[in-house]
Amino acid sequence: MAYMAGNVEKRLNPSLLLPSARSVIVVAMNYYPEKRLRDDQVQFAYYAYGKDYHDVVRSRLMKLAASLSIYDIRHREGAACAGSSAYEGLVCCDTVPVLERYWAWRSGIGWIGKNSSLIIPHAGSYFFLGVILTSLEFTEYDVPISNYCGNCENCLKACPTGALCAPYSLDASKCLSYLTIENRGPIPPAYAAKMGNMVYGCDQCQRCCPHNRFATPTEVEEFTPSEEFMTMTAEKWRCLSEEDYRRLFSGSAVKRAKYTGLRRNIDLLPEEQ
Ligand code: SF4
Ligand code: SF4
Repeated sequence: MAYMAGNVEKRLNPSLLLPSARSVIVVAMNYYPEKRLRDDQVQFAYYAYGKDYHDVVRSRLMKLAASLSIYDIRHREGAACAGSSAYEGLVCCDTVPVLERYWAWRSGIGWIGKNSSLIIPHAGSYFFLGVILTSLEFTEYDVPISNYCGNCENCLKACPTGALCAPYSLDASKCLSYLTIENRGPIPPAYAAKMGNMVYGCDQCQRCCPHNRFATPTEVEEFTPSEEFMTMTAEKWRCLSEEDYRRLFSGSAVKRAKYTGLRRNIDLLPEEQ
């Protein structure tokens, strides 16, 4: 998490990333899987079922940018092809210190729920976000929408570790999503005991959200899980070799935890699993 603390100013001020920035374009891409692991199977967060969203969202954002005559300033060849009438841009999908969720809220895509996720009306929160910072100016800009969490507190009650310590307040150091993916050390026993059959990420605060009743399956082919992944048994997960891991997660975001991270999580599965 140190990279976040080190880039606070850039996160708050996009013109430190792109001095010519005048607009922020935000997109949301549905990843809600049509087929989901049964509750009695070893669990992965839904976003990790398919190919790495960084690659999928980024390649589509690049196409969108090109269609608007925006070139990414990190690609010199793009600048050369774009010509003098093109606009400067920076394509961001979780790889540049930009507050994607904040800009998604500012742009009226959805509201930030008490679980800290962006929630889109009548669609839910199973979405990846992508941003293009650009020097292109528009005549009209979208504005934020209302928050529809109301009196609901399902997510605070469902969080197994108390990471959602108050509405809109997430303590990442207690969050199973952080502890099972980004964290490189051992998982503290008190939190490991709350993992159940979850070995990569945690969706509890989203699965309980009433707005996710509106989620519809993604049509993005790259997010469809492989047959092998969907039919893995607890026994097979326990025997997972590094070679199996590389084959199963080729091009997947699960690579972020590395084999050793996933192995650590699998080794914490309850015996009855
Ligand atoms: S992902 Fe899981 S552990 Fe993290 S805040 Fe949500 S429910 Fe809590
Ligand atoms: S579960 Fe309820 S409180 Fe939490 S984000 Fe969803 S609507 Fe808001």
